[in-house]
Amino acid sequence: MSRLRIEAEILTIKTKYPFKIARGSRDTYRTVLVKVIDHDGLEGWGEATPQMFYGETVETALAALDAYAPVMPTDAFQLEDAERAMERQLIGNNSVRAALSTALHDLVGKRLGVPIWKLWGLDAAKAPMSTFTIGIDTAEMIKKKVREAEQYPILKIKLGLDNDMEILQAIREVTDRELRVDANCGWTRKQAIRMLPVLEEFGVTVLEQPLMPDDIDGLAAVAKASKIPVIVDESCLVANDIPRLVGLVDGINIKLAKTGSLREALRMIAIARANHMMVMVGCMLETSIAITAAAHFTPLVDIADLDGAALLAQDPYAGATIDGGKIHLPTGPGLGVTLRA
Ligand code: MG
Repeated sequence: MSRLRIEAEILTIKTKYPFKIARGSRDTYRTVLVKVIDHDGLEGWGEATPQMFYGETVETALAALDAYAPVMPTDAFQLEDAERAMERQLIGNNSVRAALSTALHDLVGKRLGVPIWKLWGLDAAKAPMSTFTIGIDTAEMIKKKVREAEQYPILKIKLGLDNDMEILQAIREVTDRELRVDANCGWTRKQAIRMLPVLEEFGVTVLEQPLMPDDIDGLAAVAKASKIPVIVDESCLVANDIPRLVGLVDGINIKLAKTGSLREALRMIAIARANHMMVMVGCMLETSIAITAAAHFTPLVDIADLDGAALLAQDPYAGATIDGGKIHLPTGPGLGVTLRA
């Protein structure tokens, strides 16, 4: 039997508004559509969303796909061995391995005629509500975006630059909806601790990654001082990052582009749960392929932030949706993603 074949294509996607977080602003993003094709020509789809922050670009992603091609399995059902073989072949490149893992799971689901969530024995109705993110902007633009995002009952806002107060005030002038904050490593320990009573006053319910990824002592100090749960994102990429966080922060944010595989995401959920930690699932700016891959395990998490495709001006694919903030998982086999008509 020959190995499953890989095909790749660069996707250029644009956000509706330039998306600004503590470390930069852009409106055009490139991701890589990854197809794994079996002997009957059946295609499994995945999407790699390389992040420069984690040392990946579209170019490194394409090179990594070439490196993984010789260790593709002969049969998509060999999921565990396939993922181990990829790790042995080339470490890092987590967004690429996540795309291949997604494509293999898609193939397995298609072969069996069931969606991935069903394959895992999950109840699609248990998915939590998804937040919708408002990027950093001027007070006027923030208000405009909040009004436009009327259908979403929970908002996530990005802080971490010098206009945090202005943003919080602008938001509260136009809405009393639930608010979660992501500082994307933008604060110092002192700033974060000073912000805690302010966040409480503004009714913030979750605080994500206030400090730099490696400042675990600082994150622990902030979490200890905070009544609001502190979730880490940039500090927690894979399962191996969890033990050093246990008892120090309240939860972890799992993103496939960091985690490198759907199976690793499930392992992380199990480890976090065993340690009484909250579990969040997040995303990058990416199409419904990558968003849907992450959506399949949302029935297992507490917090979801899967707005990556909803923030796009146009999404070429249709899959999981977050209309009204409610995550709807597709019922089609495998990933359940189709090309939008
Ligand atoms: Mg985050």
